[in-house]
Amino acid sequence: MKSNDKNNMELNIQEVKSQIESTILELEEMNNETRFNLSRVEKAVGDDADKAEEDRDFREKMRSINQNSLKVKGLRKALVRIQNDTFQDCQDCLDEIPAQRLIDRPDATRCVECESIFEIKEKRRLG
Ligand SMILES: [Zn+2]
Repeated sequence: MKSNDKNNMELNIQEVKSQIESTILELEEMNNETRFNLSRVEKAVGDDADKAEEDRDFREKMRSINQNSLKVKGLRKALVRIQNDTFQDCQDCLDEIPAQRLIDRPDATRCVECESIFEIKEKRRLG
């Protein structure tokens, strides 16, 4: 059980949960719209310059779809963590992640310290 630290802002889990759910819906709607636009682009015919422009546009849209999908994935995991009552636990040091951080980034799974250590390790790993 978590201790109630009065210095720590209390996290309204229900509020965060509905926030996450609406963000997921927003992102999925955005992706559906982008996919719809992509399917229309494919049907357009043009010269080579148009094609190059379209390719760039296509890649950009694909990137935004992928980014949104990744975010949705992280947010779905956050919902699972809320369900399991591990939402506020840092996955590395098991300390409580500050409420403000989870409000800003509900898909965060580490406290700020562990996240920066993780990022340094990742950078080294990736060279
Ligand atoms: Zn930590």
